Amino acid sequence: MQTAYWCVTLNKPVKHIVIVGGGTAGWLVAGILAADHKATHKDGLKITLIESPDVPTIGVGEGTWPTMRDTLRKIGLSETEFLRECDGSFKQGSRFDGWVTGAADDHYYHPFVLPNGYGDVNLVPAWQQMSKSTNFAVAMSFQSRLCEAGKAPKQITTPEYAAVANYAYHLDAGKFARLLQRHCTERLGVRHILDHVTTVNDTEDGDIASLDTKKSGLHAGDLFVDCTGMSSMLLGMHFGVGFVDKQKVLFNNTALAAQVPYENVEGPVASQTISTATDAGWIWDIGLPTRRGVGHVYSSAHMDDETAERQLRSYLSTTNSSADDFAVRKLSFQPGHREKFWHRNCVAVGMSAGFLEPLEASALVLVELSANMISQEMPANRQIMDMVAKRFNERFLYRWDRIIDFLKLHYVLSKRTGEYWTDNRSNETIPDQLQALLELWRFQPPSAQDLTQIEEVFPSASYQYVLYGMGFETAAPPTYRRRDSAEVAKQYFAENDKITTKYLAGLPSNRELIEHIKANGLPH
Ligand SMILES: Cc1cc2nc3c(=O)[nH]c(=O)nc-3n(C[C@H](O)[C@H](O)[C@H](O)COP(=O)(O)OP(=O)(O)OC[C@H]3O[C@@H](n4cnc5c(N)ncnc54)[C@H](O)[C@@H]3O)c2cc1C
Repeated sequence: MQTAYWCVTLNKPVKHIVIVGGGTAGWLVAGILAADHKATHKDGLKITLIESPDVPTIGVGEGTWPTMRDTLRKIGLSETEFLRECDGSFKQGSRFDGWVTGAADDHYYHPFVLPNGYGDVNLVPAWQQMSKSTNFAVAMSFQSRLCEAGKAPKQITTPEYAAVANYAYHLDAGKFARLLQRHCTERLGVRHILDHVTTVNDTEDGDIASLDTKKSGLHAGDLFVDCTGMSSMLLGMHFGVGFVDKQKVLFNNTALAAQVPYENVEGPVASQTISTATDAGWIWDIGLPTRRGVGHVYSSAHMDDETAERQLRSYLSTTNSSADDFAVRKLSFQPGHREKFWHRNCVAVGMSAGFLEPLEASALVLVELSANMISQEMPANRQIMDMVAKRFNERFLYRWDRIIDFLKLHYVLSKRTGEYWTDNRSNETIPDQLQALLELWRFQPPSAQDLTQIEEVFPSASYQYVLYGMGFETAAPPTYRRRDSAEVAKQYFAENDKITTKYLAGLPSNRELIEHIKANGLPH
């Protein structure tokens, strides 16, 4: 009897996906699955999203990675609509202020555009030979100078989602979740149930059979996606999948977030996220067309809330006369991730899978990558789901580890004093893989050989921007190899100078392009 039941269950096709949670993660997963698997078609996958009216979404997460362009295009959203509805603006990378020494002139860029000539030759030794006054990002790519000039990454004639300079977005997280909800329910065939899940019911063999809710009864499904945020209701609470705490590597666990009006509403909109180091964390500053999103993220073991708030308000007072009046919202989180993400017929995406910290906006890109892999590998039936789950878990454990290494790099290279920064540099807090790579990079620059998977979240060029932006030294290689030829590298630098001049002259400002799109839209 048991065997017969199990066989029936194993062969049962996966037809109905139930997503729990209506934050950015839930709606992005719903959109990607519904678009790829034709939820509007009678034979397509059925997709239901259950969202609690009692549990608010986290409401932060306003910086994306360039992958978001492809995600929005794929789910059929127009870029014009997205930018208008979500108070969206263009992000071309991050600027790090005060991370190396804290001096007034201490800043470097991590732009999205790859160095000119990257992959053809080793550009680092030629840059190191040049005067140190030439900033690494400026020598390598035009993008940091576009950011300094407040330029947009494209022209008014550039079609939707196409770019002159690679870009991501800054957006209003609340408006983004609402737009995705409307798009998913009205155009992509996602069924939306506003109800609180109270109980998880198992099948005989231990899978999830259905979810009980406060008002709308039982909801059965074949695959359950846990997007319940930090509570991780299905994967963490129901299945008891453990949490891997990363607090000893990445110390930040508290954030104070504020929405800040512009004193000059027609002034520039920053083309980059500005990350400013503080005594025990850093302040993010994200420019939207109608306001800024600013927050201080810090380690509660190294700084108390009052000091953190005072430093945030002091930062705000440099641009706003009423900095003492802004409401500040406190968020606490535990940096880390689940031991695995897909267990039986349940997969966690978003905060329910884990969260490290806001640095480099790595959370939403993981949501996109997770949703894409679930969609591409959508198991035909329960029998092969465990195989897919195994691959998913291996792939994402690798990704979390690489992100942890990359984020930690920003702290390890700092020369700042104070307990938080010295603790960050102590060997026992640095992952083994990062320690080994730092040793290797003393003799050769980061390259694609260091990162072995397709779709790495942060490519080796990102490591170079951070490493050399923060003053790391790599020994000069022998110059007889073409790959290390300073002559060829210098040709690329000269070409980059020319492109920079051309783009600086030809691109509108970020503000001009956003206002143009509000009034006229972008061409398709
Ligand atoms: C300070 C901070 C800054 C951040 N900045 C960035 C950034 O710049 N870039 C970036 O990529 N990411 C950032 N993130 C992360 C980003 O905010 C999240 O990854 C993103 O918002 C997705 O959240 P979520 O949907 O997983 O969870 P949530 O937004 O918390 O949504 C959880 C959902 O689950 C529902 N739910 C919970 N329990 C139940 C239940 N029992 N029944 C039914 N529904 C339920 C809730 O109603 C809600 O809809 C930041 C996070 C923090 C803390």
